[in-house]
Amino acid sequence: VPELPEVEQTVRELRPVLEGATINRVVVRRRRLRRLLPRDFEARLEGTTVRALGRRGKYLVAALSSGETLVMHLGMSGSFEVWTSNAPPPGKHDHVLFQLGSGATVVFNDPRRFGSMQIHSGHGDPLLGLLGPEPLDSAFDARALATSLCRRRTTLKAALCDQRVVAGLGNIYVSEALYRARLSPRRRCGTLVTPAGGPRPALRRLARAIRETLTDALAGTGEDDGRFRVYGRDGLRCRRRGCPGRIRRIVQGGRSTFFCPVCQR
Ligand SMILES: [Zn+2]
Repeated sequence: VPELPEVEQTVRELRPVLEGATINRVVVRRRRLRRLLPRDFEARLEGTTVRALGRRGKYLVAALSSGETLVMHLGMSGSFEVWTSNAPPPGKHDHVLFQLGSGATVVFNDPRRFGSMQIHSGHGDPLLGLLGPEPLDSAFDARALATSLCRRRTTLKAALCDQRVVAGLGNIYVSEALYRARLSPRRRCGTLVTPAGGPRPALRRLARAIRETLTDALAGTGEDDGRFRVYGRDGLRCRRRGCPGRIRRIVQGGRSTFFCPVCQR
């Protein structure tokens, strides 16, 4: 399931193809993604130029010359491919095709169809406004995290998966960041914040661990299974030097969490 590093990688790959490109034609082969694509989806995109492609949380955000914004989410299994002019016929899961003035086609493929595409007038996507801080922004630190965590009564795992607390994290990178910070996913948010709402030392560790986890994931090849320290490693030895623990998998809120019960407190 794509999280911040995978979405950021997708944006970096699409940016040179899409930025400055005119969308000549949009072919929708399947209207029912996570939601139904609006009836005027094609008409609002055709003839516009992509001014800029960016990311907010797990969303790809394309600013269009029409003044509108195309907001896309990869869902569980969505991905983009770029086809050159002599492309193969589209496959079963190639749901949306953007034919560009350059001759290239950007194709959205999504077997499980949990992805979404929406067009908003102006920058006014109410959804994006609800998202928490961007963990790779320079403004993100323990204080910012304390502000968004302080009123939460949940576990750290649940809070960090909540896009309103911090944008872009999911199951995988929350497990990884908590491991790096030596914090239990079952710990309560309130234990990391002072009565005045400021960050305790453990929260400073967590903010740093989130940044490092994401930065490393972005720098990595993304192909090697060994890149995860806890995710998917249940039953295996903890990799922390001197720790005798074994990684455990538990289910929180219906989703898997991986952690070391010995060194994560
Ligand atoms: Zn351990």
